[in-house]
Amino acid sequence: MKAFSYISKSIGLMQALLLMSCAIVIGLALSAWETRSALGDQREYTFEHVNQLLDLSLSGASSAAWALDDDLANEIVAGVIKQEGVVAVEIYADLRVDTKRLLSRQEKPSPSSDELTDWVARKYFADLTHSQRDLYVIQQGKQVDVGDMVVQIAPVYGAQKFLAIVYSILTVSLMEAFLIGIVLLLVAQWLVTAPIRRAAAKISRLNPDALEDTEFSIEIPGLHKSDELGLLFNHTNQLLDRLVESQTALRTLATRDPLTGLPNRALIKESVTTTLANAQRNEQQVAVIFIDLDRFKSVNDTLGHEIGDKLLIRVANTLLAQIREQDSIGRLGGDEFLVVMPVHNVNDVVVVVRRIIDAMAHPFEIDGIDLRTSASIGIAVFPDDGTDADVLMRRADLAMYKAKADATTRWQLFSQDMGQAVDAGVLFETALANAVLRNELEFYLQPKFEGSSMKLAGSEALLRWQYEGRSVAPDKFIGLAESSGLIREIGDWVIVEACQTLKRWQGHEISISVNVSARQLADDGFARRIMQTVQRHGVSPALLGFEITESTLMQDLDQSFEQLTALRDYGFRISIDDFGTGYSSLSYLTRLPIDELKIDRSFVSGAQHSAIVLSTIIAMARALQLEVVAEGVETETQRDQLQAAGCDQLQGFLLGKPMPVTEFETRFGIVEAETSASLGSKIKRIK
Ligand code: C2E
Ligand code: CA
Ligand code: CA
Repeated sequence: MKAFSYISKSIGLMQALLLMSCAIVIGLALSAWETRSALGDQREYTFEHVNQLLDLSLSGASSAAWALDDDLANEIVAGVIKQEGVVAVEIYADLRVDTKRLLSRQEKPSPSSDELTDWVARKYFADLTHSQRDLYVIQQGKQVDVGDMVVQIAPVYGAQKFLAIVYSILTVSLMEAFLIGIVLLLVAQWLVTAPIRRAAAKISRLNPDALEDTEFSIEIPGLHKSDELGLLFNHTNQLLDRLVESQTALRTLATRDPLTGLPNRALIKESVTTTLANAQRNEQQVAVIFIDLDRFKSVNDTLGHEIGDKLLIRVANTLLAQIREQDSIGRLGGDEFLVVMPVHNVNDVVVVVRRIIDAMAHPFEIDGIDLRTSASIGIAVFPDDGTDADVLMRRADLAMYKAKADATTRWQLFSQDMGQAVDAGVLFETALANAVLRNELEFYLQPKFEGSSMKLAGSEALLRWQYEGRSVAPDKFIGLAESSGLIREIGDWVIVEACQTLKRWQGHEISISVNVSARQLADDGFARRIMQTVQRHGVSPALLGFEITESTLMQDLDQSFEQLTALRDYGFRISIDDFGTGYSSLSYLTRLPIDELKIDRSFVSGAQHSAIVLSTIIAMARALQLEVVAEGVETETQRDQLQAAGCDQLQGFLLGKPMPVTEFETRFGIVEAETSASLGSKIKRIK
């Protein structure tokens, strides 16, 4: 078994073994043919051997028989019995008509032999054992019969000779086969296996995340330039080239703000984290500076987006000019920028902030218009105001609001009393904690359609919260639910709702995808608990999917990997949500247990919309054998483009907004209108 697994790993060995086996079979066939003729030869030889013995002793034996000379007869018999293979010799003399006298007889035991020899002897040599010759003398020119001589040969004698020949034939042909095998192995090794092995080693050494930095193309040996191997290597090289291109495209796309070219939110947040880690090691301070343009909205509204965009680019360049090489700047979105800088003391920060404010005070000349703008700046400092990126960014944001509210200062350092304002959120949190108890959460579904046929394929579960008579969108409360830990309870509620709905839909094969937060995934028993819920409701795991954003995954890759693997082993579908907005790494796409990519709406209908990016993502997903879903399809042009690009599923306001589950069922005829309506009223009554 071990040997087989070793052999099955080498084309060269496998080939050589195959060829050797063929050579052996052919060799055996040829040997069989040779053996047949050897058998004929040996029979003839055995026959002749007896006759020769008889011929040689004939005249002596005749004289003995004529003279009735026992001594002479004994002498002759003794000579013959010594010969190889002879087991008995007899000489008779004719006395009168029909009377014979035995002059001499000797025998010796048959040579010892094994079963095979016995069998061959019985089958092929038994008929040759006995040979008899008349003895005569010439008297007056006439032949007178005087007796008989009989020689018996052991059949085993012929069989032994014959088998010896067979063995030598077999040995020679096996040696031939073996030698042919060795030669072929060496040739195949040199021509095929070695180049393939070199290429495989090269490919296995490639780091899929850093292809740009390595020399990756596979060298094509001269001998193979135009054969199948050359073709294979050539195609592989082309594929690798394409991979590098799309990787580079993806990387800039995922980490850069397309308008200003500055790092986007994900990347700048990462810079904050690394800067903090370095500062901690060097016992330094770090300032996180939140910059927000004043009245930018009115520039956009009165002068148009084009001017607004140009202003943002100019502002970005101006800000970039004010910071040092070791500082980083990024665009968080809209008119918000973030600067991260290691500092010795707060005075360093104030110097830079003043410089920024002065620079912003000059009007920007855009398309012949002098635009005046100003910025409000909030600052939080590590380690006093917080020790992680999230907290520092939130607090800098809070300080910025304070600066904006107070017309006299353009900038503010964070102070603890600002934190108190945040406590207003505590009230909201209590209300959210009660939301589940009071049945205030609503289970909405948004339909997903097959790209090719536009048939209903499934749905995404999206939460709504009925709070003080208003419907609150998840963007407003999921964050709070996550930071407070309430998401566990809320997430469980969503999954139970999804299971109950799937149970009602039995026979319709419409799936439901549920969004999962990092906090839920961090729970070791997450996958197991879900499976228990699903089993309790008796629904098929194949119809329940989970959507996880890239940033959620990245928070604890090992943990995510474990939980996702477990979920997938149970048979649930895993989808990467908001794909393209996080810090994409190709290697995690190939390694994580996922089924589907959901392209973020910003690429489908948002600011970063681009047909090339969409088709690149779709092609890449194809190559990784992942399904692609586009969310946020808002116009017919977008739908057509995505369909043409081969997107597997589409979702968006154009095709269907999120709606209460009863409405969904009626609209798609899943549960008859009546049942669905009565169910709806039942649900209301329970509330
Ligand atoms: P998401 O997972 O990216 O969900 C898609 C969001 O895009 C939904 O917003 C949906 O209403 C919206 N959308 C769908 N089609 C279009 C379109 O054509 N145009 C535009 N502009 N938007 C469209 P929604 O319902 O406000 O949910 C926001 C986010 O809240 C979700 O983003 C998801 O991350 C989170 N969320 C919602 N429900 C849950 C939940 O049960 N658990 C967790 N953990 N998160 C949830
Ligand atoms: Ca989602
Ligand atoms: Ca999404």
